[in-house]
Amino acid sequence: MYNVTLIPGDGIGPSIMEAAVKVLDATGVKFEWEERLAGMAAVEKFDTPIPFETLESIRKSRLAFKGPLTTPVGIGYRSVNVALRQEFELYANVRPATSFEGLDLRYKNVNIMIVRENTEGLYSGIEHFIKADGINIAAESTAIITRSGAEKSIRYAFEYARKNKRKRVTVVHKANILKCTSGLFLEVAHEIAKEYPEIEFQDKIIDACAMQMVMDPTVFDVMVTTNLFGDILSDLAAGLVGGLGLTPGANIGKTAAIFEAVHGSAPDIAGKNIANPTAVIMGGVMMLEYLGEHEAAVRVDKAVREIIKEGKFVTPDLNKNSKSGTVEFGAEIARRVK
Ligand code: NAD
Repeated sequence: MYNVTLIPGDGIGPSIMEAAVKVLDATGVKFEWEERLAGMAAVEKFDTPIPFETLESIRKSRLAFKGPLTTPVGIGYRSVNVALRQEFELYANVRPATSFEGLDLRYKNVNIMIVRENTEGLYSGIEHFIKADGINIAAESTAIITRSGAEKSIRYAFEYARKNKRKRVTVVHKANILKCTSGLFLEVAHEIAKEYPEIEFQDKIIDACAMQMVMDPTVFDVMVTTNLFGDILSDLAAGLVGGLGLTPGANIGKTAAIFEAVHGSAPDIAGKNIANPTAVIMGGVMMLEYLGEHEAAVRVDKAVREIIKEGKFVTPDLNKNSKSGTVEFGAEIARRVK
């Protein structure tokens, strides 16, 4: 029995998480779900986006499965996601983007694993305005890169490549301009790469890298980069394989992990039964692998891929003629998994 803190999240969160929990329960793996609130749902009830009882639950379970959280813009709240990642020292954000058969897209063979440093860089939360006569005349933001933060995420990428027999690791940076922060990240990557002689290593500057990913993403394998660049490149990678409804993410630390989708709470489609539950369900697949439940993970992955290939039970983002929504798509995955 695995104890998991379940955070339904905001916007489309509760509906896609309900579908995902049904799929995970259908595997036969025993989960004890402890439901806790965070984000806007928690602000309404507890007047804070990260209530104490949610943190306590994750401290005990060391494992959370979460829906996307809305962070209100500019009214004094820190990003809840960033806060959770820092609180539990979840140093690597692991975001795979792989092609699905059956989708009519330009590229058919994308298989990119992005490892994003998850607690530092421009997301360190050190920002302020400078005021004169009561108006903001400037704003400053401090990016922190530590040797140890860089080492942990870069080593994770190389270990992942070794374990999964991947060929190449690309470190993405902007060390030509950000000589200290990006420079240190790149320096550490070169040092660590020497310990993995069997893995091809290359470095790419973020802007050229973004262009190359769009021109031919199939040349990329494992990628590792700093927080902001990783955030942007993983949405870009999602776009290459069919959109944000498809790509999951795992936040990995030494003693805890949080599994989720790459996408946010999608307020524009909330309450319409059209949100694609695949991304969080694939987050569930990553959680099953993390727990060593390989057979169950493969079963869910296979069911999702089969249904997407057939195109009948999918949400409208994948097939605009489909009559299915979040509920029907999720139920069909659960049925086949069972
Ligand atoms: P978003 O990812 O929520 O949505 C971007 C676009 O993708 C929207 O058009 C949306 O409809 C579409 N989309 C997203 N998920 C989808 C799905 N499952 N199926 C079909 N279409 C989907 O990004 P946003 O609108 O910029 O952000 C909304 C909120 O989410 C913000 O408050 C942001 O801070 C938050 N956010 C949270 C997380 C997280 O919890 N990990 C990640 C990103 C953004």
